[in-house]
Amino acid sequence: MQKVLDSDFCTGCGLCSSVFPSKVDIGVNKDGFYRPIIKEKLDKRELSIFRQFCPGVKVLSFNHEAPFRNKIWGTYFSVITGKSSNKSVLDVASSGGAITSILLYLIENKTVDYVIQIGVSEDNPLLSKVFVTNDPETLINNANSRYTPSAPLVDILNLIDSSKKYAFVGKPCDISALKSYALIDPVCSPIKIYLSFFCAGVPSYNSTISLLESFSSRIDFVKNIRYRDGSWPGNFKVEETSGKVHEVSYNQSWKNFFGPTVQTRCKICGDSIGHNSDLVCADAWSSSGKDGFPTEEIKTGTSLVISRSKIGETVLREVLNNKALTVINPTYDINDLQFIQPGQYAKKQYVLIRLIALFILFKRPPSFPLQFLLFGLLKSKFSVAIRNFLGVFRRVFIKGKL
Ligand SMILES: Cc1cc2nc3c(=O)[nH]c(=O)nc-3n(C[C@H](O)[C@H](O)[C@H](O)COP(=O)(O)OP(=O)(O)OC[C@H]3O[C@@H](n4cnc5c(N)ncnc54)[C@H](O)[C@@H]3O)c2cc1C
Ligand code: SF4
Ligand code: SF4
Repeated sequence: MQKVLDSDFCTGCGLCSSVFPSKVDIGVNKDGFYRPIIKEKLDKRELSIFRQFCPGVKVLSFNHEAPFRNKIWGTYFSVITGKSSNKSVLDVASSGGAITSILLYLIENKTVDYVIQIGVSEDNPLLSKVFVTNDPETLINNANSRYTPSAPLVDILNLIDSSKKYAFVGKPCDISALKSYALIDPVCSPIKIYLSFFCAGVPSYNSTISLLESFSSRIDFVKNIRYRDGSWPGNFKVEETSGKVHEVSYNQSWKNFFGPTVQTRCKICGDSIGHNSDLVCADAWSSSGKDGFPTEEIKTGTSLVISRSKIGETVLREVLNNKALTVINPTYDINDLQFIQPGQYAKKQYVLIRLIALFILFKRPPSFPLQFLLFGLLKSKFSVAIRNFLGVFRRVFIKGKL
């Protein structure tokens, strides 16, 4: 575990503290990320368990039953674009509200008893807290993206009641960790469906602090923070208790604050498009194709939804039949994703070469299924591959880490 922490390959998911609560705590470190605090070393048996689920060590491949495989975007049953048919959801959601609409459907139709997801912590509006809820209002309140660390697995094993059924929402790495743990402990079997989103990486807690400082604001002034407020893609918006409001555009918040602070593990993530999720959602915006930032601002967003497993496909069809989601494109061509998600497309092209460079430097990077990585590299230009390979060496030698 110490090796994962020293090499900074921890995602901050929190699962180790749930599995070994007497030995591991979780806290936000000085770099602004959730990280385990080791109170007592794990013994040999515990370490062997840890290695089987920690996404800083390895990510396994699930979802083998899907009929289609795209070399870059992975296995799937279907891909659609659409938006929530519920105006209250659309008003607060990050994209088209697909995730929240699906959660509402799952609760209303009793497919699951509860949803496990993150929302805002009452103690600190910049931090995230885990909610186990079946209250529609809470689900809607917890919509929107939080570009700040979250550790949805920090107490997960205590939260699951074996007599209930759950839907879980988390980052792709949270889902890979939990599904891997489920292979060795049946405690996770009440989780019936795993939902995620395309993930550009977790920005540091400190980047939100810097954003506040850029408005001459402070954490103790804050009444409410929304990372994507208003029209799509939405502004970063702070309301102070004094009534003052500060806003900055999505593009500026990511270019100047969040993007540069994304944690190390995210820069070598082979699973940031949710290969292991049952349903994975993303922004279906039009982009310049260069940097992945949206080229236009419009009133409400559109969601892309990929079903990757049988349960994911069944739920997606039910949600569409029930008109909880209004379809825009029922058969989205997955090859077009490279134009609206160029950041993820680029990542697929350079991740394997970065991992190889780290391996050569004896950094023991996490392992990913080869099919998540290989085909992207084959699409990569030679110059891009070399630049990334040398970039890893330069950063490791100069900064000591990626
Ligand atoms: C760190 C991060 C990086 C992202 N990168 C990309 C990207 O590269 N490309 C892209 O298309 N989309 C990305 N997204 C996702 C995008 O912002 C939307 O969340 C996604 O399209 C789902 O929109 P929605 O309207 O369906 O979700 P909503 O209906 O708004 O629901 C959002 C759900 O996500 C959960 N959630 C929000 N923030 C977090 C978090 N930090 N950790 C765990 N769960 C969270 C909420 O609890 C809620 O259940 C990212 C999101 C995050 C949090
Ligand atoms: S990635 Fe998750 S399981 Fe691994 S060390 Fe970090 S918090 Fe623990
Ligand atoms: S980029 Fe990968 S490692 Fe980083 S938060 Fe997203 S899924 Fe986890």
